Amino acid sequence: MKNHLLSVSETYQLFNTSKKGLHRAEVEERQKQYGKNELLEKKKISILVLLMHQFKDVMVIILLLAAVISLAVGDLKDAIVILIIVLLNAIIGFVQEYRAEKAMETLKKMSAFTATVRRGGNIVQLAASELVPGDIIILEAGMSVPADIRLTETYSLKVEEASLTGESNAVEKHTDEIIPENSPLGDRFNMAYKTTIVTYGRAEGIVVATGMDTEIGRIAQLLQEDETKTPLQKRLADFGKKLSFVVIFICAIIYGGGLLRGEDPIRMLLTAISVAVAAIPEALPAVITIALALGAKQMVRKNSLIRKLPAVETLGSVTYICSDKTGTITQNKMTVMDCWISPKTEGINEFTAEQLLLLSMELNHDVITDESKQLKGDPTEVALVEYVRKNIYYNQKWLTDFKRQYELPFDSVRKRMTTIYPLAGQWLIVTKGAVENILSSCKDANSEEINEATEKFAQQGKRVLAYALKLVDELPKSISIESIENNLKFIGLAAMIDPPREEVIQAITDCHTAGITPIMITGDHPITAKAIATETGILQHKTDRIITGTELANFTDEEFEKEIEYIKVYARVSPEQKLNIVKALQKKNHFVAMTGDGVNDAPALKRANIGIAMGITGTDVSKEAAHMILLDDNFATIIKAVREGRRIFDNIRKFIKYTMTSNSGEVWTIFLAPLIGLPIPLLPIHILWINLVTDGLPGLAFTSEGAEENILKRQPRKTDESIFSDGLGIHILWVGLLMGAICIGTQAWARHAGNEKWMTMVFTVLSISQMGHAMAIRSDWKSLFSQGIFGNKQLVGAVLLTLGLQMAVIYVPFLQDIFRTQSLTLIELLTCLGLSSIVFWAVELEKWVKRRSLNISISKK
Ligand code: ADP
Ligand code: MG
Repeated sequence: MKNHLLSVSETYQLFNTSKKGLHRAEVEERQKQYGKNELLEKKKISILVLLMHQFKDVMVIILLLAAVISLAVGDLKDAIVILIIVLLNAIIGFVQEYRAEKAMETLKKMSAFTATVRRGGNIVQLAASELVPGDIIILEAGMSVPADIRLTETYSLKVEEASLTGESNAVEKHTDEIIPENSPLGDRFNMAYKTTIVTYGRAEGIVVATGMDTEIGRIAQLLQEDETKTPLQKRLADFGKKLSFVVIFICAIIYGGGLLRGEDPIRMLLTAISVAVAAIPEALPAVITIALALGAKQMVRKNSLIRKLPAVETLGSVTYICSDKTGTITQNKMTVMDCWISPKTEGINEFTAEQLLLLSMELNHDVITDESKQLKGDPTEVALVEYVRKNIYYNQKWLTDFKRQYELPFDSVRKRMTTIYPLAGQWLIVTKGAVENILSSCKDANSEEINEATEKFAQQGKRVLAYALKLVDELPKSISIESIENNLKFIGLAAMIDPPREEVIQAITDCHTAGITPIMITGDHPITAKAIATETGILQHKTDRIITGTELANFTDEEFEKEIEYIKVYARVSPEQKLNIVKALQKKNHFVAMTGDGVNDAPALKRANIGIAMGITGTDVSKEAAHMILLDDNFATIIKAVREGRRIFDNIRKFIKYTMTSNSGEVWTIFLAPLIGLPIPLLPIHILWINLVTDGLPGLAFTSEGAEENILKRQPRKTDESIFSDGLGIHILWVGLLMGAICIGTQAWARHAGNEKWMTMVFTVLSISQMGHAMAIRSDWKSLFSQGIFGNKQLVGAVLLTLGLQMAVIYVPFLQDIFRTQSLTLIELLTCLGLSSIVFWAVELEKWVKRRSLNISISKK
C-alpha cells in the first residue's frame, strides 16, 4: 500500500474518518469487512494430534510390542488387557494435556495488547484485535504499535522498528507527507507499523491496515514463542536417561535369572518389560508441564499472570524482590497536600505568583477527561489537575485561552516535562519535574531555600514536584530539550501524598520470614523514599542503606559489590541502573525478581530471573519483556505468587515422591523375591495395572494439595539443588524397599501357610500400600491427622476410586478371569489391609522424627 504518499487530509478522506474517530455502526461494519486485527499464528495443535502424542512414547511402543508378543503366543486376554491399559493411560494423559493446553491459551489471551483509540469523540481502551482501518489511535512511549498507522500528529515520537526492518536504533517520526514512492519501510517517517515499538514521545494517527494486511502480516514473519524447558524438566530428563540404563540392567538380571531357574522365557520377557515400564519415569517431564500450566492458571485468580511457564517453577527460589515504589508499594492514589511558592517568584503580565503556579499546573500535563468526566492519566498529574481545578483562584478561561503548540514529553531519565504556548505575542514555556532536575535548568534560583522546603515535605513521605517557566519573544529554530529547557525561572513546589498499600506491610514481613530481601527502587527523592521504606519495613536495621543514582554511578564495580547486600533503597535512579542492580545481585548468586513498567525497564526485566511487569500501568514493552504480570500492580501479589510457586514446586516434588516410591516398591518386589528363592510374585499385567492405574490416578491429585503451613517461613530453595535432596531420594529407596519387603513377606507367609491365593494377596498389598503412602506424604512433616484426612478432596476421591477398582479386579468374576485373581475371604482381605497400612505408619513415624528435629532446631535459635 502507498499510504505514505498521501497527505493527512487525503488519508482521512480515503478511510472515511475524522479526528473524532469512527462511530459504532461504522466500526461494526468494518469489523465484518476486515476481520480481526490479528496475525495468524502457527497452526494450533489439533485434538487428534494431541491424542496421537500419547502413543509416541517409547514406553507405549514397548507395551504395544508386549501385546503383540502375548498375542503371538496365543494369550489373547493378556493382549487385550495390555491394550486397554495403554488406552486408559493415553486418555488420562490426553485429558491432562488438553487442560494444560487450554490453560496456556487463556493465559496468552489475557496478556494480549490493548490500544488507545478515539471513537465517536471519546477516548477508549480496547483490545488491539478490535481495531479497524480508519480508527484514530493514540500512541505513547512504551506501546507496541497495534496496526499500520499514518501519523497525523507527533510529539518527539521515536519508534524502534527492529521487528520489521532489523534496525534496532529508534527512528524519529514526523507527519511530513512527501516521502518518495519507493522508499523502504525504514524511511517512511510518516508511518508507524504494527509490532514496532514506541520508545519515546507521543503521537496520533489513522489506522490504514490491520491484521494480515499490515506490512508485518505481509512478510508473514510470525513471532513464535519458543517453548523452553524448565530447569527441573531438563534435569529430570537427564536423570531419566541415566536411570533407564540402571533399570535395563536390573531387567536383564531378572530375565537372565528367570531363564536360569527354568521359567517360561516368554513370561520372563513380559515380566522384564513390565518392570522396565514401571521403573522408568518417562512421563515425568510431561507431568511437570501439566502441573506448571494448571498452576499458572490458578495463579491468575491471585492476580499474577504468568507469561513464561518456567517462572512458575523458579518463583520459589527468589531471594531478592526489587520493587518500584510508586504504584507497587504505594497506592498510586495521589493527593496534593501542600504548595510552596518561592519568595523570589514575581508575577508576569496579569498573573500573580500564586496564579502562575496554578496556571502551570493546569497547563503542563497529559491528563484527559473521559466520557464520564473522569480525569484519566498519570496519577501524579491527575492529582495536580484535581488540586488546581478546585482552587478558588483557578480560572476556567485558562482551559480555552491557552493552546499548546509544542511539548517535550516526560521521561524518567531527565525527569522533566515541558509544554509551550503562545501568549500575547510571546511564548510561554512551562516545565515541571523533579526538584533537582528543575533547578539545574533554572537561572538565579535560591536552591538552598528550595531544597529546605523540599526536604520538609519529603520527610513526611510526600512526592514533590517543582515548576518553572519563562516567557520568550521568539522560539529557537529547533525545539529540543537543550534549546528550550534552560534559563527557567523557578516558581514553586507541589507536594502530594501517596500512602503505602495496606497489605504491603504484611507482605514485607512475609518476605523477611521467607528469606527474601525486599528492595525499593524509585525515581523519587531519597528522603521521600526513606520515609516510605521506613513505614513499610523495608528499612529496618541500622546497617540498611539508601543510595541515590548519582552515588551508584560513582561506585566502582568492586565497591558496589561490597555494599550491595546492605542497600535497601535506591532513589533517583534511572531505569538503566536497574540492569546494573540485577547484574550485581546475580553475581552474588542471588535469584532476583524485578518489577518495572516503563520502556526503559525492558532490559532489566529480561535479565532478572523473574521479570515482573505491571498490568495496569505497565507499557506493552515491559509486559513483553516480563516473565510475569501483576494484574493489580500490587507488591503483595508478588509474595503471593512466590508462595504459589513454592506450593506448586512442593506438589511436583510430592508427585515425584509418590510415583518414584511406588516404582521403587514394584522393582524391589520383583527383583528380590527370586533372590530369596521365591517365584516371581506378580504377573506382568499386575505390574502394568499398578503402574498405570494405582500410580496414575492418585499421583495427579497431588497438584491440588494445599500449601504447607511453613511455606513462607523457610528459606528459598536453591536453584542448583537436586530434586532428590532433603531426603527425597532416600525416602524413595527406603519406603520402596519396605513395600517390597512387606510384599515378599506376605508371599512367603501365605505360601508357607499353603494358601494358593498368595499372588492375589501380594497384588492387593502392593496396591493398597501405595494408597496409604499417598495419604501419608500429603505433607512433608505434618501428620495426616492434624492436617485433616479429607483435606485434599481430589486425592481422597482418587484413593477411593483406586480402592474400588482394585476390589473389582479381585472380586468381579469376569475381571478375575483376566487378571488371574481369586476372591479373598474377609479375614484375608483384612490381613492384607493391615499389612498394607505398615507403610502408612512408617511414613508417619518418619514425619514425627522430622517434626522433632524441626522443633529442636527452632528452639535452638
Ligand atoms: P517513580 O515511579 O519511582 O516514583 P518516576 O520515574 O515516575 O519514579 O518519577 C521520578 C520523578 O520524576 C518524580 O519524583 C517526579 O519528581 C518526576 N515526575 C514524575 N512524573 C512526572 C511528570 N509527569 N512530569 C514531570 N515530572 C514528573
Ligand atoms: Mg512512575
